[in-house]
Amino acid sequence: MTTATMIDEPGGKVPVVAETDLVVVGGGPAGISAAVAGARNGLNVLLLERYAYLGGLASGGMVLVLDDMSNGPEMTVRGICAELIDRMTTMGLCVTPPEKDWISDTAKFQQWARWGVYDFHSHQKPQPICYASAFDPDGFKRASNDMIAEAGVNLRLHSWFSRAIVEDGTIKGVICESKSGRQAVLGKTVIDATGDLDVAASAGAAFSRGSFIVTTVFRLGGIDTEAAERFEYQEPEAFAVVDREAKRIMGGSWERWWLKTPLPGIVWCNCPHMGGLDGISVEDLTHADFRGRERIAELVAYVREKIPGFENAFVVDVAPQVGVRTSRLLEGEYVMTKEDVANRRHFRDSVARGRDYYYPYRSLLPKEVKQMLVAGRHYSSTAAAQRISREIPPCMAMGEAAGVAAALAMKAGVTVDRVDVAELQRVLRAQGADPGDRPAANANVQIAAE
Ligand SMILES: Cc1cc2nc3c(=O)[nH]c(=O)nc-3n(C[C@H](O)[C@H](O)[C@H](O)COP(=O)(O)OP(=O)(O)OC[C@H]3O[C@@H](n4cnc5c(N)ncnc54)[C@H](O)[C@@H]3O)c2cc1C
Repeated sequence: MTTATMIDEPGGKVPVVAETDLVVVGGGPAGISAAVAGARNGLNVLLLERYAYLGGLASGGMVLVLDDMSNGPEMTVRGICAELIDRMTTMGLCVTPPEKDWISDTAKFQQWARWGVYDFHSHQKPQPICYASAFDPDGFKRASNDMIAEAGVNLRLHSWFSRAIVEDGTIKGVICESKSGRQAVLGKTVIDATGDLDVAASAGAAFSRGSFIVTTVFRLGGIDTEAAERFEYQEPEAFAVVDREAKRIMGGSWERWWLKTPLPGIVWCNCPHMGGLDGISVEDLTHADFRGRERIAELVAYVREKIPGFENAFVVDVAPQVGVRTSRLLEGEYVMTKEDVANRRHFRDSVARGRDYYYPYRSLLPKEVKQMLVAGRHYSSTAAAQRISREIPPCMAMGEAAGVAAALAMKAGVTVDRVDVAELQRVLRAQGADPGDRPAANANVQIAAE
């Protein structure tokens, strides 16, 4: 970041547009869950989102596979995330492989791999198909809208958080920028679900900085996916040559750079990746959009000519949100490490699960700011831990836990850092979530005395 000349900003009065029990900032996967869970548990909830829609990276970032939600045959993320999957499935906008297909088998792999619903972490060959879902971004927005409206959440879109209001170490609310000018929203509890820790950082919570590749995800239409898969499996050598060149043009992608979506002929492309960019730098985010679009144009020209099934490919859209996976990470009451995640360390105060790992309640609590929780990809972890524990479903599980925790704190008349965690686990389980209070057989419970 360049050192800028500073000017004084005039102070002034800001209208308070709402006073509520719980303010959730950020309407992505974690924020939606937090708001719905808080409202269902009796709180008046206000949800603030900067963009014109809900869903965060899952919709605006067009990250279109929900994974990290099963431990072999066991479903580890349920609750609000599973409900969202059910709703999108009913709309015909979500595809999940049936349980009988959750096996390692070549035919099954070829049937499902291009949906992105296999276990990326498995060393088995072929990697087993697992409980994971491919969905449509507008389906995610619509199902989220329905859940938010049914729960009675007061949603304010087009509201950019700009500053936390803190008095004597306790957060009292937030200030937003909007078309209507600056607006204040006051709340008894605030959940930061911005993904970049905007609120907690502004409030004075300690954080570290992570960085990872940034991706300008896009969708292509006009694809004959059956022809493309036939080519991939029946002519593997020829496929390998053109696939390698496509990846070179993009300058970075995962193994399968295009995946199917529930819309016929439309695929999503988790690429191109760009390194060395800062996810909260205006200059870098602008650069990512320009450079990403250049690479996409070059790729489309190539695949139309070279890849069977892609002859009529066209760009449907480039994700309106640049794909930032990591920026600020909370340094909260407990900082999760890579070993905690990789070794499946179980915590007595586990309130959410990912694939086969557990999130302690303390990893949602800032040390310096009272009445604040965080949920989502900026949770308290090292960058190496976050890298393997930031998928959409576990972010939703964290959000659900934070929303219920805020409600229990208010009912008990205690601050959020004093919530009875056993009660929190009980309520989460009763409401259909898996808080991770019952460690799986492969969990590492020997070192759980923290
Ligand atoms: C390219 C890419 C590919 C990925 N692939 C997968 C995958 O295949 N499967 C998977 O499960 N996960 C995947 N992930 C990870 C996953 O998308 C994220 O970790 C997850 O979406 C995080 O959810 P979140 O709610 O914490 O944050 P986000 O999704 O980032 O949501 C944050 C929300 O807060 C809002 N917000 C931010 N700042 C402000 C502000 N100042 N004021 C108001 N609102 C604000 C944002 O607009 C957004 O709605 C991928 C991520 C990327 C970038």
